[in-house]
Amino acid sequence: MNRDMESPDIPCREWKGVPENCTNAWKEAFDVPSEGYFVPGYCPVCGAETLRRYYYPGCTQAHEVPGMLIPKPGSSWEWCSSCRSYEHAQALVPAYWCAATLNLDHYILTPVPEVLDQAISTIDSGL
Ligand SMILES: [Zn+2]
Repeated sequence: MNRDMESPDIPCREWKGVPENCTNAWKEAFDVPSEGYFVPGYCPVCGAETLRRYYYPGCTQAHEVPGMLIPKPGSSWEWCSSCRSYEHAQALVPAYWCAATLNLDHYILTPVPEVLDQAISTIDSGL
């Protein structure tokens, strides 16, 4: 059994930052609240309808105040599953975010959303 995290039969897929001439359109495309991983709309880079996002709350939990939703400090990933453009940033996890935390080891997360994309693709295919 190959117990490596990296499966050898997954081809090396290149991720790239969002092209400078698309950054504004990219921000607008992701300026849409989505409660889950799938962001409605089209990728400003390649035009595919495969925008994804993920927030990972940091270790610091926001102070819970009854009746108030307070964003939690964490990290965000925004990417296109088709052309593999991505953005990763420190971000506040929005109060509307209620997607389940993916069942993966968060210590393997990197700025590149490869692991996230694979995990979400599994959900997408109904598994
Ligand atoms: Zn794209």
